[in-house]
Amino acid sequence: MLEITNQELFGKVIADALAKVEQTVTDNQTKQRWINAISKAAAEIEENGVFMTWQDEEQSLLIWSQKSNHIYSANGVCQCRAFDQGSPCFHRAAARLVRLYIEAENNPAPVRTQAEEMNVAPYLKPTIEREVERVGNVRIN
Ligand SMILES: [Zn+2]
Repeated sequence: MLEITNQELFGKVIADALAKVEQTVTDNQTKQRWINAISKAAAEIEENGVFMTWQDEEQSLLIWSQKSNHIYSANGVCQCRAFDQGSPCFHRAAARLVRLYIEAENNPAPVRTQAEEMNVAPYLKPTIEREVERVGNVRIN
């Protein structure tokens, strides 16, 4: 059984996954299919997580489909019809979401100070650093 204990983190993983599709998939139809697959995966994990098991060694997600009574083992590949036809399926999307969620849960992002944040994201730095030359109308150097 799969239980998402950190809803906030899981939400972030889903948002990241959707953003990644937006950035990396150029074909509009494929993009829409992946977005649908991710949305369905998120809903299925929340509602039917009890029928799923994450297998750490195989890095795959076992999903028991009550509809077809099949058990799918998804990581990069799947055994369902959609996968056979080369289409995105929610099983694979779910496996990816769960893997990223577990990774994120095991490696929480460090809380950064503002200075560290600026090193990580240099674009936040002011582009011009100069001495203050005036205070009001008074030139001070
Ligand atoms: Zn599948």
